[in-house]
Amino acid sequence: MAGHLYIITAPSGAGKTTLVRLLLENDPGIRLSISCTTRAPRSGEQDGREYHFLSVPDFLTRIESDDFLEWAEVHGNYYGTSKRWIEAEMATGRDVLLEIDWQGAQQVRKLFPAAIGVFILPPSLDELAKRLSGRGTDAVEIIARRLAAARDEMRHVGEFDYVIINDDLQQALVDLLSVVRASRLHYATQRQRHSRLFATLL
Ligand code: 5GP
Repeated sequence: MAGHLYIITAPSGAGKTTLVRLLLENDPGIRLSISCTTRAPRSGEQDGREYHFLSVPDFLTRIESDDFLEWAEVHGNYYGTSKRWIEAEMATGRDVLLEIDWQGAQQVRKLFPAAIGVFILPPSLDELAKRLSGRGTDAVEIIARRLAAARDEMRHVGEFDYVIINDDLQQALVDLLSVVRASRLHYATQRQRHSRLFATLL
């Protein structure tokens, strides 16, 4: 049975990483894709846990070898999703979640039109700026660049199926869990999962 492919996109500072962590804690059936990136690890990040950290030449070699389902340059660094891992997971029927930017989302949507896109918005621009400076792990100029990039990222919200406004974290989590729950109740999914029931009832 085919699993669902979820794409979660948000501007930096919208709280996507925390929300995704809570979603995975609440729903162990969803597997998170660990992306490759050429950006340096932040303090506390571990290779193979948050990202697979690669050098630029290694990343370029992997592009050449067609290793990525999608890849993009974001904030001056390369990011990409491993094709082999996704294909293997999807083949086993597991639900897979991609935490990627709008450029990656566009590429994945072309390959998997049934992918479920969720965009997370901050409650206001002021709050977004506050959250970006509050994180304290990046330099000031990087924060300024990300705030500008956030405006560009948010212009793509209309390309997604669902929008969650992350004002209150618990409410945002309920919203995200509702999207997942609803996607599992789609006719095609239910018909496959409960094929015997359908056969007896219809
Ligand atoms: P960060 O460096 O803050 O972890 O992530 C920066 C941006 O890169 C975020 O918008 C994140 O969603 C995006 N990103 C992370 N992994 C991937 C990926 O594999 N592909 C694409 N296209 N974007 C990614």
